[in-house]
Amino acid sequence: MTNTNQAWFDRAQAVLPGGVDSPVRSFRSVGGTPYTVVRGRGAYVEDVEGTRYLDFVQSYGASLLGHAHPAVVEAIRHGAGEGTTFGAPTPGEVLLAELMCERVSGLEQVRLVSSGTEAVMSAVRLARGATGRSKIVKFDGCYHGHSDALLVAGGSGVAQMGLPGSAGVTAGAVADTIVAPYNVVPTLDESVAAVLVEPVAANMNLVAPRDGFLQGLRDECDRVGALLIFDEVITGFRLAYGGAQEYFGVTPDLWCFGKVIGGGLPVGAFGGRRSVLASLAPNGPVYQAGTLSGNPLATAAGVRVLNFVTREDYVALSNRVAQFANGLRDAVSSSGLFAQTPIEGPLMGLYLSREPFSAPTNFAEAKALCDNGLYRPFFHAMLDRGVALAPGAYEILFVSMAHSDDDLAQAIDSAREAAIIAAAS
Ligand SMILES: *Cc1c(COP(=O)(O)O)cnc(C)c1O
Repeated sequence: MTNTNQAWFDRAQAVLPGGVDSPVRSFRSVGGTPYTVVRGRGAYVEDVEGTRYLDFVQSYGASLLGHAHPAVVEAIRHGAGEGTTFGAPTPGEVLLAELMCERVSGLEQVRLVSSGTEAVMSAVRLARGATGRSKIVKFDGCYHGHSDALLVAGGSGVAQMGLPGSAGVTAGAVADTIVAPYNVVPTLDESVAAVLVEPVAANMNLVAPRDGFLQGLRDECDRVGALLIFDEVITGFRLAYGGAQEYFGVTPDLWCFGKVIGGGLPVGAFGGRRSVLASLAPNGPVYQAGTLSGNPLATAAGVRVLNFVTREDYVALSNRVAQFANGLRDAVSSSGLFAQTPIEGPLMGLYLSREPFSAPTNFAEAKALCDNGLYRPFFHAMLDRGVALAPGAYEILFVSMAHSDDDLAQAIDSAREAAIIAAAS
């Protein structure tokens, strides 16, 4: 009978390459056997063996309210009963688009898709089509999904695998992709269609933008007539009520969203000013489409989440994460290691070292820390104590609105012990 994590993973490996549908889940970079999840409730997930974990993965940020929030479950139940896909316009996609445009200043129209990858890939095509230019600038260590043109010098799983990019991506596919170091404003020329950036880099662990970096990108794009694209697949509707635009006061030309806006179902979106979106089919010559795009079930979940959260919720969550970050850093630092837990709003990173250090400002600095071997024993010591961090040093911690003060205190206690174990490793 298959009722252990090992048995499920063995079965999975027979029919799913590496046993997973997304590489980081395989535990390849931390070692060991992944836990196979059967259910999640609020801040917790439970595996096939009945073990409960306090979950800081939260589907890499897709879950803002915590797992199986009753309001979201109800919206999905109701939506399922009405039919899950029609290939025709539905009210849900209008409602979700309206909510997004209301909240994000400068965002006038969105096109809904089914993943973050699709959102960024389509935004890049739109930027190229709208400007008639080819080059895209991205930043070292930023992850923008797995479309060919952007699968170069990526963070997250790509960094975890130690890959500069991916096999199967042709030189031609990335020939128009320029990679620049994060936190340095590159000098552009008029061949550049767009500069694509994570406004808070959250796929090389967490690297905050330096003061002036995002505004510098805005100014440089304006100087040469390039479009600025914020990849807000993580930061959108998580960093703040209005996302990075509100948080940093810098307005891009195009936005990409995913994760939170699907309420745990597969959704992505890209959007911007009407004048830019005018290039998109059926109005314009840039083709983009999707059978399940604007899926009624997914939009029902997304609308429910966005309607549920208030401005005050973001402030409260950010304040709790700030306290948690201090507590976690101090707990680790009192146990023989040094830690940095950089935060932006409710986003939080975690770096460990044997030496005192300051929070990284670019991928090279982040990589040196993420690859120092301390995360692996720390991760497992936390897991042994019922606290699930992401199984990779390049990911950040996601604190949902369902994490209680007691949950966070428990994680800090566990971190104190885990740091002692990691220090002795
Ligand atoms: C997760 C992520 C993506 C890709 O989204 P998927 O839904 O996994 O395709 C793109 N950009 C950023 C910043 C992300 O964090």
